[in-house]
Amino acid sequence: MAWYTTDSVLTKSDGNKDWWKTTYSPGDEVPVSGIYRCLGCEREVTCNDPDHFPPQNHHQHTGVQGKIRWRLNIRTNTTGKTS
Ligand SMILES: [Zn+2]
Repeated sequence: MAWYTTDSVLTKSDGNKDWWKTTYSPGDEVPVSGIYRCLGCEREVTCNDPDHFPPQNHHQHTGVQGKIRWRLNIRTNTTGKTS
């Protein structure tokens, strides 16, 4: 969960792009810059295209949390373009 205020400027996406639907593993290439949420523990990280996601030892999970898997939560506008 990311936080925002009423002064924040956010644009709702239709979510149709693959980067909204894909789950990424540690070390995968980051498809778009943004805030990614770990599906196992809700931790968030900021990652930039074309860097790689943090390695497997970035943080530890309990057994029930499973493997680290990243899902895009907030896409950031790093180009200044509006689409
Ligand atoms: Zn996690």
